[in-house]
Amino acid sequence: MGLNVCGPMLIGHGSEEQKAYYLPRILSGEDIWCQGYSEPSSGSDLASLKTAAVKDGDDYVVNGSKIWTSFAQHANMIFALVPTSTEGKVQQGISFLLIDLTSAGITIKPIINLEGSHELNQVFFANVRVPKRNRIGRENDGWSVAKYLLQFERFSMSSIELRRLLSRARSMAEQSSEDGVTLADNLSFQQKLSSLEIDCQAREASEQRLLTQLDAGETPGTISSVLAAISSETLQRADELGLEICAY
Ligand SMILES: Cc1cc2nc3c(=O)[nH]c(=O)nc-3n(C[C@H](O)[C@H](O)[C@H](O)COP(=O)(O)OP(=O)(O)OC[C@H]3O[C@@H](n4cnc5c(N)ncnc54)[C@H](O)[C@@H]3O)c2cc1C
Repeated sequence: MGLNVCGPMLIGHGSEEQKAYYLPRILSGEDIWCQGYSEPSSGSDLASLKTAAVKDGDDYVVNGSKIWTSFAQHANMIFALVPTSTEGKVQQGISFLLIDLTSAGITIKPIINLEGSHELNQVFFANVRVPKRNRIGRENDGWSVAKYLLQFERFSMSSIELRRLLSRARSMAEQSSEDGVTLADNLSFQQKLSSLEIDCQAREASEQRLLTQLDAGETPGTISSVLAAISSETLQRADELGLEICAY
């Protein structure tokens, strides 16, 4: 979250002071970031957020809770979307805050998934004071910052991960033999695996194009949404292939 999304977001929308303070801390690993977007009753309909921030002197006072917060148990900072106004369109009443997870009033509770591992959490905020200088951009303009950040998040799954998965699938299929015949000898299996490998190569080419674009100072734009959709679909197909190998 730090290197892939928070850093690029700070470069695009942070003040000079915020960039000078936070960017080196991301590179050194001093700050580990997590993402506070989702709430128990706000998922796809993100603009319906309820964790509100109320102004009090030089601070905001934050109350509510964020959910599905990946790796909050390892993080010391969270970037969060919080409503700061109830007037007008909901998207125009949200601010983007950087919150120190060691602040008084924050509790992190683990959510253990079906396979028993701990990635997800629920983060509770009870009268948490956040300095106004920790706001990114203007008050009530957090929605544009959030959308900007998502452009980077959507393409952060690299094809290297997929390539590793496919090469593991290939070597496992070559081993799982039944009467000397391996799954890798099966024509239908070969077709599925080759089709995934071709898609992986195509994805890699798009990724390289995107990186060249970023190098030239451009933003990822809509291509990152396309890559996110393709990645989810390709990963599902790779997982189905994995199940086929296990069942052989
Ligand atoms: C592994 C994992 C890690 C995550 N990590 C984080 C994190 O670190 N930080 C964070 O903030 N969030 C995180 N999330 C949350 C994720 O972004 C949410 O799951 C997402 O916002 C969707 O919300 P929801 O799960 O409440 O689903 P819902 O919004 O309830 O959607 C459920 C289903 O209904 C469909 N649906 C919803 N609205 C409509 C509609 N209007 N029309 C038609 N269909 C609709 C959706 O497509 C979906 O299939 C994580 C999720 C997962 C699975």
